[in-house]
Amino acid sequence: MLEFDKKDLKFIGPCPVCNSNFAPQNIKALKNYGATLMLHVDCSECESSLLVTLIKSNTGVVTNVGVLTDLNKDDFSRFRDMPVITISDVLHFDSNSYNTNDNFRNKK
Ligand SMILES: [Zn+2]
Repeated sequence: MLEFDKKDLKFIGPCPVCNSNFAPQNIKALKNYGATLMLHVDCSECESSLLVTLIKSNTGVVTNVGVLTDLNKDDFSRFRDMPVITISDVLHFDSNSYNTNDNFRNKK
């Protein structure tokens, strides 16, 4: 299986908002699944943040999928092990208008 190394970070490309290049110190690897690497990137120019997934094929071709996000680098580790919000959770929340947003994701 192909692994990622530092030179693959060039495939992240420039900021999609302001077209500035990302500084290496603003790139953090969040999760590595062998041929797939998830990164969090902050733009020092416009302060946008991006979740980037790099996928390396068996031939070495790297595909880049980037999504603008409000999450910061610490949010990913904070939310990653929490239970997934289901349709039932949303309907329960919606049908109980007295509910506030406190600890909604911890109720089971
Ligand atoms: Zn930017």
